[in-house]
Amino acid sequence: MMTMIYDIVMNKYNRKYSQSEKGKAARKRYAQSEKGRLNAVRCNKRQRQRARNIVLTHYGGNPPKCACCNEFHYEFLTIDHINGGGGKDRKARGDGTRFYQSLIKDGFPPGLRVLCYNCHLARGFSGYCPHQPRPG
Ligand SMILES: [Zn+2]
Ligand SMILES: [Zn+2]
Repeated sequence: MMTMIYDIVMNKYNRKYSQSEKGKAARKRYAQSEKGRLNAVRCNKRQRQRARNIVLTHYGGNPPKCACCNEFHYEFLTIDHINGGGGKDRKARGDGTRFYQSLIKDGFPPGLRVLCYNCHLARGFSGYCPHQPRPG
């Protein structure tokens, strides 16, 4: 009971404090401090991973895996353009996180799938992946 009252009082105090000039200055100081900057980087990293995770899960299943060799380690997976044109599309959408965010914004356009970097690069270089029977 005592803790509850204490919490309410503290919340009220904190809200008032965080809206005051002194509170705003303290938040700014925190954001510019080493600890605050590190925290902001961590938050951004989480957001980036989230966008990537949503896209990989949409195209590669849950949990996502390579459409060619079933590689499932998250770190190895990437988005592949089934009919090519990946370089152009990535240029138009932006790199890294922006690419994934753009796909989400566009409602997951068709023609994409999840491949691991091995299969992705093999197809980029030679037009096929050694995991599959060679065409021709
Ligand atoms: Zn693969
Ligand atoms: Zn492969």
